[in-house]
Amino acid sequence: MTLEAGPAGGLDELDLELAGLGRRRIDLGRAEAAARELLLALGEDADGERLRETPRRVAEAFAELLTPAPFQATSFANEGRYDELVLVRGIPFHTLCEHHLLPFQGQAHLAYLPGERIVGLSKLARVVEVHARRLQLQERLTTEIADWLERELEPKGVGVLVEAEHLCMSIRGIQKPGTRTVTSALRGLVKDDPRTRGEFLALAGARQ
Ligand code: ZN
Repeated sequence: MTLEAGPAGGLDELDLELAGLGRRRIDLGRAEAAARELLLALGEDADGERLRETPRRVAEAFAELLTPAPFQATSFANEGRYDELVLVRGIPFHTLCEHHLLPFQGQAHLAYLPGERIVGLSKLARVVEVHARRLQLQERLTTEIADWLERELEPKGVGVLVEAEHLCMSIRGIQKPGTRTVTSALRGLVKDDPRTRGEFLALAGARQ
């Protein structure tokens, strides 16, 4: 994955190439103009003293929220033939819901049953971040992380459990603060072998 300034060479455009996630271009000038337009449409004095800098701040904030740090996934041969579940619990993340552009945030629990390859544990946290720094749905975030683990590590099984609170649920709409949504993606032996599946769900144990 590479992250580089756009053709202009300045900071006006960010050209993002995301591992397996396609390509995206962030046009900061256009985002700023759109934020100003949104303020005007909401009846705000977008050009007044109070809000003059707001469109630029909004554009920069969204660019930051949608730009993951550069990430190189390095995996290693599983020389020790480790064959038990590797699980990282409680990886915090935040992302933006693609329906409302409001944040949802929570924790991801990732596990894989190693095959030929293993990966550094800190990389698992980075995998979550790479997939969270874009407009998302919790269901798709969960599936994409599982797909990535399957593709990069070719493990015997994968388990991903994500729990999150959605601002679009807690401050608008049904307005139920504290409600957490739980999603999971189980693959291979983590899905099919009852013992491994039980072990993953017990270890990942969504917060009560
Ligand atoms: Zn939403």
